[in-house]
Amino acid sequence: MQPSDRVREEVRGFTPYAPGLSMEEIKEKYGLSRVIKLASNENPLGASPLVKRVLARKADTVFRYPRAGNPALTAALAARHGVPRQCVVAGNGSDEIIDLLVRVTCRPGRDNVVAFDPCFSIYVQQTRLCGVTLRQARLGDDFAFDLDALAAACDDDTALVFLTNPDNPSGYAVPADDVLALSRAIPKRALLVVDEAYAEFAEPEAVYSTMARFNETDNVVVLRTFSKLYGLAGLRLGFGVLPPDIANYLLRVRLPFSVNLLAEAAGLAALEDVDFVAASLEAVGRGRALLAEKLAALGCKVFPSQANFLMFTPPLPAADVFEGLLKRGIIARALRSYGLPHMLRVSIGNDEENEAFLAAMKDIVGSGF
Ligand code: PMP
Repeated sequence: MQPSDRVREEVRGFTPYAPGLSMEEIKEKYGLSRVIKLASNENPLGASPLVKRVLARKADTVFRYPRAGNPALTAALAARHGVPRQCVVAGNGSDEIIDLLVRVTCRPGRDNVVAFDPCFSIYVQQTRLCGVTLRQARLGDDFAFDLDALAAACDDDTALVFLTNPDNPSGYAVPADDVLALSRAIPKRALLVVDEAYAEFAEPEAVYSTMARFNETDNVVVLRTFSKLYGLAGLRLGFGVLPPDIANYLLRVRLPFSVNLLAEAAGLAALEDVDFVAASLEAVGRGRALLAEKLAALGCKVFPSQANFLMFTPPLPAADVFEGLLKRGIIARALRSYGLPHMLRVSIGNDEENEAFLAAMKDIVGSGF
C-alpha cells in the first residue's frame, strides 16, 4: 500500500492556495532594502491606533480561552448592522465561514456550487475538497456580472451560489437591488452567498451592499471581513450574517475557539475607531481616483473599481511589468492564477506607496522594463 492510498482522492488532487513571495523573500531575491506590498488589498494606513492599544492591554489575558461563539463581538456586529444577533457568526477570516458553509450545506458527490469564472480561489478549493461540483458561469463583457447566466447555471441540487460584490479581481459591483432579484431567481433550496469583503469601499456603500437589506430575504448570506477596511488581516477575523438556522449549524460544527481572544478584542476596538475607518476610506477613495487616472495616462486599460484595488491591462506584457515592478521593490498581483495572464491588480496604497508605484510604472512603460 502506498502512503497516499490512505489519503482521500480530493485531498491528493488538492491544489493549495498559493500566496505570493513574502516581503522578506522579495528583498533577498532582488537585493532590496525596502519593498512596498500592494498585492493583498490590505489597509493602506496599517492598523488602527486604538486596536494597537487594546492589543497591548489584552496581552496578559492570553492564557485564558476566548468565550466560545464570541458573544460580545457578534452582539456588537449585530447592533452595528441592524441584524438579529442569532444570525451573526464570526470566523477565522471570512475564509472560515466559506469553508463552513460548504461543509454544512453541500452533499458530497451530489450537490453543486455555482460561481462566476474567475472567482475567489477559496470557493473553488473548499468546494473541491468537499467532493462537490463547482459550476462556473462566464462573466459578461469587461467583467460585468451576467446574473441571468449565474441563475441559469443552478438546478435543484445547487446548495450555494457565490457572488463577490464588489468583485475580486475586477472591482466591478452591482446594486443590492440586483442581488435581491438574483436571490429570488435561484432555486428555493440554494443559498446566495454575497461576499462583501470589499463592500465598504463601494461608493455609496448603501446602494451596493445587501447587508442593510438582509431582513428582506430568507436565502441570503452576507460575508464581511476585518482584513481590509479594518486593517486586521494578520489576526484573521471575518463574519457571516446568515439565516438563523444555518448560523446555528455553523456554530455547532465549527471548532470552538477559531476566533482567538486577541482577534475578538481587536475586532471590537476596530468597530469603535470611527476616525481610523473614515481616514482609511478617504485614503482609498483618493488613491483609487489618482491611480486610475495616472495608469490610464500611461496607456493602461483600467477597469472601474468599487474596491480598494484596481485591475488593469498594461501596455506591455503583464508578466514583464510585474517583474519590472518587483525589481523596483513593488509587489503587485499577477492574475495568471485567475486565468487572466494579461492583467495585473494593484491595491490602493498610502500616498507615498502610490507615488512610488506610479514612478515605477512610468519608468517601466517609458524604458520598456
Ligand atoms: N473574499 C474575498 C473576495 C477576498 O478577496 C478575501 C481576501 N483575499 C476573502 C474573502 C477572505 O478574507 P479573510 O481575510 O477574512 O479570510
